[in-house]
Parts: sequence; C-alpha cells; structure tokens
Amino acid sequence: MELKDLSLSKISELLDKKETTSREITEVFLKKIEEMDKKTNAFITVCYERAVDMADTADKRRAKGERGRFLGVPIAVKDNICTEDIKTTCASKILHNFIPPYSATVVEKLLQKGAVILGKTNMDEFAMGSSNETSYFGPVRNPWDLERIPGGSSGGSAVSVAGLESPASLGSDTGGSIRQPASLCGVVGLKPTYGRVSRFGLIAFGSSLDQIGPLTRNVRDCALLLEEIAGYDEKDSTSLPVEVPQYSSLLTGNIKGLKLGVPKEYFIEGMEEGVTKRIKEAIEVFKSLGAEIVDISLPHTDYGIAVYYLIATAEASSNLARFDGVKYGYRAEGLKDLKEMYIKTKKEGFGEEVKRRIMLGTFSLASGYYDAYYNRASKVRTLIKRDFEKAFEKVDAIICPTSPTTAFKLGEKTGDPIKMYLSDVFTINVNLAGVPAISIPCGFDEKNLPVGIQIIGDYLKEADIMNIAHAYEKAVSGFRFSPFI
Ligand code: GLN
Repeated sequence: MELKDLSLSKISELLDKKETTSREITEVFLKKIEEMDKKTNAFITVCYERAVDMADTADKRRAKGERGRFLGVPIAVKDNICTEDIKTTCASKILHNFIPPYSATVVEKLLQKGAVILGKTNMDEFAMGSSNETSYFGPVRNPWDLERIPGGSSGGSAVSVAGLESPASLGSDTGGSIRQPASLCGVVGLKPTYGRVSRFGLIAFGSSLDQIGPLTRNVRDCALLLEEIAGYDEKDSTSLPVEVPQYSSLLTGNIKGLKLGVPKEYFIEGMEEGVTKRIKEAIEVFKSLGAEIVDISLPHTDYGIAVYYLIATAEASSNLARFDGVKYGYRAEGLKDLKEMYIKTKKEGFGEEVKRRIMLGTFSLASGYYDAYYNRASKVRTLIKRDFEKAFEKVDAIICPTSPTTAFKLGEKTGDPIKMYLSDVFTINVNLAGVPAISIPCGFDEKNLPVGIQIIGDYLKEADIMNIAHAYEKAVSGFRFSPFI
C-alpha cells in the first residue's frame, strides 16, 4: 500500500473491497506524520490514539455490513475548526489549551459518516497571514523546499496533503487561505460560495468572508468532500437553504463551448515569469479542450486589498474581543483587577500580527472614522461584487493565477506586512464578492516549485468550476501533488 495512491476515493474503494482496514490505513498515515512532521511542522495536534480508536469503530461498522464513502477514511482538520474533546488552538497562545465542548458542523457531519480525524493542522495565528509564519507553534515548511513557506493561512492543511501526511484536509478561506497554500504546495483547494458550507464551530476571523473548504490530491476528492460538508445549517444564519448537488457525479470533463474569461487586471507587474508562463500554457490547454477564451475586465480589482484589510480587520476586532481571559484559554497571572486581566491577557496571549489587525479594525470602526473607512470600504466592496456579476453575464467562469509568486523563502516577507498582504491580490476579491473558486496545480516554475491556476465561478457554481478543473486534470493526465511521487 503506497501512501501516494491513497486518495479519498481510493481509500474507500479499498475498504469496500475489504482489501485493507481503516486501522491499517490510519496507522500508515500516523506513521508518516511522525516521520514528516519533524520537518514540516504541519500538525499542532496529532490524534495518535483517538484516530486508531475511531478507525477500529469504523472497521466494526463495516464488519456489520455498513458502507459509506467516508466510513473509516482519515482526514486532517485545520486548527481553527472546533473538534469536541480535541484541542483547537487557532495557532494562538491565547487558545493554546482550549478544548472545545462541541464540534463544528462540518466535523460533526464527517464524524457521523465515520471519518477518522488524524489531527489538527498548523496555521497562521487566527488565520491571519499568507505564509504560516505567525503560528504560536512555529512556522510550517513547504515539502517542495523546506527553506520555503507553504503559504497561509491553511499551510498545515496544504502541507499535510503534499507531504503525504493525510489524504485530504479541511481548511478555511477568508482572503485566500485555502487557495494560496494549495497553489504553493501543488494541491487542489476550493473556497465555496459564501454560505454554501456552515461556519458553525469555525473560530471566526472575518465573519462576512470566512468559508470552510477542502484541500485534496485531485478534483474528484474535492467534489466528494465538498458534497459531504456543504448544506444549510440552522446553527449558521448565513448558511444558504439550497440543496447540495452531487458534485462528484457532475464531473463530465466536457467543457466544449464554455466561455472562460481572462481578466486583464490579473496579469500585473511583479508577477513572476514562471507563473505567467504556466498560466498561459494552461489557457492553451483549455482552448484545446474546446473552451472559448474571452478577454474580460474586473475594473475595481485594484481596490481589493485595501477594502479587505478594512473589512476583515474590523470584523476580526469585534470577533476577537471575546478572548479576554474570562471564558476560554490563556489567562495572564499576577493580576490586581479585571481591567489588568483583560490588558495583560491580550498583550501576552496574542501575537504581533493579530494585535496589528485588532488595532487596525478598532480604528476603522471608531466613531468619526467609521464613515471614512469601514462604510466606504463596504461601498467599494459592492462595486467589486458587481464586477463579478457583470463578468458572469458574459462568461461561464474566470481563469487567472492563484498567486503572483510561487513559494517564497521563510522570513522573506515577515518584516514587511504590506508585501505579505500583496500575496493575496488574486484571491481576496473572490471572498469580498462571495463567489466560489478553486485552485489547481498547473505545473512548476524554473525552481521546480508548484504553480496554481484559479478558476472562479458565479454564485453556487461549484459544480461548474470543479468540472472545468477536472477537464484540465484529465488533459494533463493528473496532478503531481507531492514531491514524493
Ligand atoms: N492572507 C490573508 C490574511 O492574512 C487571508 C487569510 C485567510 O484567508 N484566512 O488575512
């Protein structure tokens, strides 16, 4: 049994045919984590014993004749998604010892189907970052080159897949945190339409932007995982009461006659040549598959980063107010009164980047500044949304790079927040508009680092973008999603 062959669909096939057991598969991955994680640091918590117990339970259920795509199938979960009785830290000191009393809806759904949780993956603290260097538990390293960052904030989730430490994982995406690390690690990552997947139990960063989504080895697995976690949830008032298509059965691979828009604003100065080249080649592949390539414009693209860093930080400053030492996690010691407890706990518990965001957000929400900053940003957000709406009147999907660069070196951008924020120029507007997008691998640059192409769809058109991604995947005979294959 080779780790590289163990995709989600392969695992359930092997289990169905009784060629292996969940326990055997789970132990293979746990062993790999033990070996790899010394180098990659992709996990904050590994569920060595619990995962084996869960696998045994799944094996028993199977022995009784029960079947199911996820019954006994292992998966990794980002550490900002609550897991009952399993530490959920958000990669922050302030939650370093937090054990949630309940599971997020997505986790609950997978557990009910008998999935096995391998562990909780490392991330940027509170999902704030693009390089996975802001984690309280240390940076994550990219298995394609251990001197380089894996992208962020779901860096651990992406690395667990690329490093063969898991068959698939869940991440969260507020401004690119699934797609950008997927791109930099050479795996598949999808951010669903806002409201497609329940946010209940996802520790909130920017509530109007956050979505949970899959990171996988191939597009079929992405479809399988999404159909399992998507759907209306009464515990999340922003989840959409619409039916979930059976995404995996809609992957025909036929994209003949589809119109794919290429936005001129997404080919900017500062973009690496290796990226431009691979994207241009990918566009040719789409052409050869019968798609029509259409030049389009998303004129408000340039405002995205500014708007995002006002709205996301405003929401974060209010969401993070609850971490004050009273109810959860870390509490400072040697305190003389309540006020000092608040101040010292936050000062000691949050890292630099999180503090920066809370201050930015608090500032833009302050009376006197609210209209000039937060309100104004909200208005421009509507213009960005309209750009997409107009584009989708003309095209079926939009294709563009996921990230302007491939994986950069550790420490390269940590001293310059603006430079770091620019890593997300191509992903952020998708969150501001609320539309879905997938990143898939499209080859390597001259340093042999993975490049990703992003396919953006109209609201709730996950099936379409996955089908386009699948057509490409077939045309290139599958992805090399790990340096170890
Ligand atoms: N890199 C972006 C940020 O730092 C996006 C993070 C995310 O999607 N969670 O906010």
